[in-house]
Amino acid sequence: HDEEAAAKAAAINADNGAPTIFDKIISKEIPSAIVYEDDKVLAFKDINPVAPVHVLVIPKFRDGLTQLGKAEQRHGEILGQLLYAARIVAEKEGILEGFRVVINNGPSACQSVYHLHLHVLGGRQMHWPPG
Ligand code: C5P
Repeated sequence: HDEEAAAKAAAINADNGAPTIFDKIISKEIPSAIVYEDDKVLAFKDINPVAPVHVLVIPKFRDGLTQLGKAEQRHGEILGQLLYAARIVAEKEGILEGFRVVINNGPSACQSVYHLHLHVLGGRQMHWPPG
């Protein structure tokens, strides 16, 4: 039964290209605490924060970027915009002096939402190596 449950969880969290919950956050059908927004990028507070500051930065148009591992050369511009937005978020949240940006890619990295997102974390001492 454990194996069955694990297989089910893996299937639910697989990259199948289906729409994700983030589409509803982008369309504002689901409310979120927005930290930064422009025409390409949305940054909002994670509902299950693992640090005093925990903000997700996502592209408004997924365009095949279910995960970083799917990135192609044409994604270079949006990837740069996401990273720069992470810096804007860090400044807005007052953690520019020390923060971490994380991208979980795929099942073994515990990715749970298949719409590329950067975690911006800070407000406490971070540890290395991460778990
Ligand atoms: O990297 P990973 O895919 O695991 O991160 C997904 C993140 O999205 C989690 O930190 C989770 O708390 C967050 N989340 C959210 N709002 C939702 C669903 C997930 O902030 N409605």
